[in-house]
Amino acid sequence: MARRMHVSRGKAILVAGGAGFVGSHLCSALLDAGNRVICVDNYLTGSPANVSNLKGNPYFMLIEQDVCDDVAIDEPLDHIYNLACPASPPSYQADPIHTMMTSVTGTGNLLRLAARRGAVFLQASTSEIYGDPEEHPQQEDYWGHVNCTGPRACYDEGKRAAEALCFDSLRAGSVDVRVARIFNTYGPCMQPNDGRIVSNFIVQALKNEPLTIYGSGEQTRSFCYVSDLVEGLIRLMNRQPNPGVPVNLGNPGEFTVMELAELVLSKIATASIVVHAPLPPDDPQRRRPDIARARRLLGWQPKVALQDGLSHTIAWFESTLAKQQAVRRRSRRPRPQPVLSQDL
Ligand code: NAD
Ligand code: UDP
Repeated sequence: MARRMHVSRGKAILVAGGAGFVGSHLCSALLDAGNRVICVDNYLTGSPANVSNLKGNPYFMLIEQDVCDDVAIDEPLDHIYNLACPASPPSYQADPIHTMMTSVTGTGNLLRLAARRGAVFLQASTSEIYGDPEEHPQQEDYWGHVNCTGPRACYDEGKRAAEALCFDSLRAGSVDVRVARIFNTYGPCMQPNDGRIVSNFIVQALKNEPLTIYGSGEQTRSFCYVSDLVEGLIRLMNRQPNPGVPVNLGNPGEFTVMELAELVLSKIATASIVVHAPLPPDDPQRRRPDIARARRLLGWQPKVALQDGLSHTIAWFESTLAKQQAVRRRSRRPRPQPVLSQDL
């Protein structure tokens, strides 16, 4: 790596997947807290635009790199957050083998880097490791109900394998590893075409297009605002001593997909209606985190109610779509033709 980080302050922290939705918020929060941040990302589902507000910050470095390739960072590192992995079902199913390898090879590469540098490691795991759960709400002791041959397996089983790598590294004493099991999270900086429910419904309503409800709409999810999640991740990373067990991070408020559609429609002046589309295979029917462990070990619980978080997210999408539209309009406008001397 040619460029080295600017003068020293705080901790040196690597965020893999830092140009994605959650990662970009995490990078900002870590810099605001007085740290140095190296963001590593291959821009598969993230983009440098997500961290453009950090460009020029001498304590921030952005490196384009796939974590499936050896991650050779020539910097001291105190912490590594591994968020690198597409999270939306259409994105992680687009190249399922690369998704699996991102979780397995990528996590393995980052764990080796952590071992070499003595860095504390946090793995962004997921509620998907519970699959289509037969226990409700989901506690960390539940082993899950995952179809290992279905289209979601590349993500679910990849993340389960990554957890196994993490806990083996912890047991071997090679890395101080923490594992966060993240439940559905939403907020500004989600890609408008990301395909997840919150971004889909908001973008559809803002464009007066029908809201696509997959299946009956009776399936449930629990939605956590991104600032709450980021606070939980940082608390888990800094928690002493290491809890040594995975920790659910999510908002226990549970909503059906239909209820979310109604809430979005109630907040946006729109002509949109709802339409039903087929339910994707293996779509989990109920999901709600039990966060007793996060409360006890981290003193953490979410603060932002869905109503308020949705309002912030809608405002962000409104301004982002308006900017995109203005750029498109400008690029469509005919350019003035140069006047040639023979025309005079
Ligand atoms: P995202 O898709 O917006 O961000 C993922 C980032 O990782 C992107 O910037 C992408 O370009 C990068 N990436 C993907 N593959 C990579 C690779 N091989 N090498 C380098 N970079 C790579 O997703 P997100 O919502 O920000 O999720 C972040 C993490 O949190 C993911 O690991 C995800 O599995 C986990 N998680 C998120 C949620 C959620 O609801 N947002 C829920 C559960 C778990
Ligand atoms: N969903 C939906 N319409 C959409 C996008 C998603 O009804 O346009 C449903 C999807 O079938 C699932 C829930 O919303 O039951 C959450 O989907 P998402 O892709 O956001 O996350 P995940 O399934 O990974 O929890």
